[in-house]
Amino acid sequence: MSSVPPPPPGPARCGMTTFLTAIEAAKLRVISRQVPAALRHSLSCEIAAGHGGNHIAFAAAADGGELWWWLCWETQTREVRRIDPCDGRRLDDQYMDDCLLPAGHPGPHSFDLHRG
Ligand SMILES: [Zn+2]
Ligand SMILES: [Zn+2]
Repeated sequence: MSSVPPPPPGPARCGMTTFLTAIEAAKLRVISRQVPAALRHSLSCEIAAGHGGNHIAFAAAADGGELWWWLCWETQTREVRRIDPCDGRRLDDQYMDDCLLPAGHPGPHSFDLHRG
């Protein structure tokens, strides 16, 4: 048996960053009834590099973490949107990783991406 070479690194995250505008921050503060952590940090796009369409970054959770709000943005348009989490799940893994991306995201699930 010869040794198996390590698998190539998986696809990287897009990683495009942006900051919340004052209006978006105010909206998220009302929605989540707290100051979103995203207020102090840049948001970075969490879906796979080379994706089409909007960049998407997690912005805030509301209602005890049940509702997930995301910032979707392109060059000209930005929108804070509630999107359910993806139901992707790694079933062949003992840790049963859940995908932490919004439902309908393009590209591979979060557990197949590495921080690039
Ligand atoms: Zn992106
Ligand atoms: Zn997914």
